[in-house]
Amino acid sequence: MSKILDDLKACSGCYACQTICPRYCITMQSDEEGFWYPKINSERCIDCGLCRKICPVLRDKKAEASPIAYAAYNKREEIRMASSSGGLFSLLAEYVIQRDGVVFGACFDERFHVVHQYTERKEELEKFRGSKYVQSKIGESYQKVKEFLMDGRMVLFTGTPCQIGGLKAYLQKEYENLICQDMICHGVPSPKVWDRYLKYRETIAGSAAQKITFRGKKNGWKRFSVSFLFKNDSEYDETLDRDFMMTAFLKNVCLRPSCYNCSFKNIRRESDITLADFWGIQNIFLGMDDDKGTSLLILNSLKGKALFEKVKNGMEYRSVALQEAIKYNPAMTQSVLWNSKRNGFLKNIDKISFDKLVKRYCSGSLLSKCRKKAYAILSKGKSCICVLIGGKRR
Ligand SMILES: Cc1cc2nc3c(=O)[nH]c(=O)nc-3n(C[C@H](O)[C@H](O)[C@H](O)COP(=O)(O)OP(=O)(O)OC[C@H]3O[C@@H](n4cnc5c(N)ncnc54)[C@H](O)[C@@H]3O)c2cc1C
Repeated sequence: MSKILDDLKACSGCYACQTICPRYCITMQSDEEGFWYPKINSERCIDCGLCRKICPVLRDKKAEASPIAYAAYNKREEIRMASSSGGLFSLLAEYVIQRDGVVFGACFDERFHVVHQYTERKEELEKFRGSKYVQSKIGESYQKVKEFLMDGRMVLFTGTPCQIGGLKAYLQKEYENLICQDMICHGVPSPKVWDRYLKYRETIAGSAAQKITFRGKKNGWKRFSVSFLFKNDSEYDETLDRDFMMTAFLKNVCLRPSCYNCSFKNIRRESDITLADFWGIQNIFLGMDDDKGTSLLILNSLKGKALFEKVKNGMEYRSVALQEAIKYNPAMTQSVLWNSKRNGFLKNIDKISFDKLVKRYCSGSLLSKCRKKAYAILSKGKSCICVLIGGKRR
């Protein structure tokens, strides 16, 4: 077999094909933009077709009917403040670990690459807390999940909808002891772009990074900030509208090609639970908006509903109609818009410094549109994450 997908742009880089190949002849290799794609060693390939059969982009997605939604947040303030949204991931993860289960999620490795790992210890959950706006490398996670499931352990697997799709496709059957939690996903930025941004920040600081947070809540949940602590004790902290990585992310100039036509956008999901930020909460339940982070919790399956019953005492929550809840979160069902400057941004990543790159490729008509939209929303007395972009930045 020479290729899995006719259009490689549809590939989400989920690792399912590599993991299932019985001859180990698929490797995931980075392209010039920094995204992983399967490469088949045609000399070793026996043309069994398994990779095509299980590709989550090609296969029919199975979902249960009637998802239900809540606005919710973790009652434990310190966990909520350390999380990107309402801290519900931690509540689910703690429940699973208390039952001798295993939790998989995205974290930084020692060089701040974003990778999927697992833990069996509550003290290690901290590394998964918080969104990292970079595509996470699945590596051997699906195989490990299967091993734990076969041992009868409870497993909570968390990730983007395409990663959940990849896992389900690889497993090829339902496991009662598996719980999958995805999120409403804007899209995933290139690991290469993240690497260049990290280097840019470390060069300015004259020191390697020690701690990085994409979603600090110092200025509130809606106006979150990206922060770095460096080994020389210097710090960087900028709100989303001023940070270059977040600008590139929200301007859609550094996302994976498949994110612009994502085949996992759907009200009905393969996961048991979907988490998201409850943008617009102030317009629905004002009492649940203290700007510390409120989550949108969607229960997609009977398993998800049963888990909610077990952990709900740890949350403040209110039931909400799903259509109302996703009104301010179009990423639930719609892919991000293609930005005509995207390819220029990625082609020049090694030629122009990060600050100049963002200034050159993230301004212009799209910026004015975004500004106008933000002004329109703010002038109606509503807050919005898409805050004004511009001004002087360092
Ligand atoms: C790339 C990305 C795009 C997102 N886009 C949206 C959006 O458009 N709208 C919206 O409402 N919410 C979006 N979210 C989800 C949101 O930011 C929160 O992650 C979610 O609401 C859970 O919050 P929490 O407070 O419960 O848990 P937290 O502790 O904040 O989140 C931790 C969870 O996020 C997972 N995670 C972190 N980074 C990654 C990653 N790179 N890849 C896979 N999983 C990751 C961890 O495995 C863990 O399950 C996005 C998250 C990511 C990572």
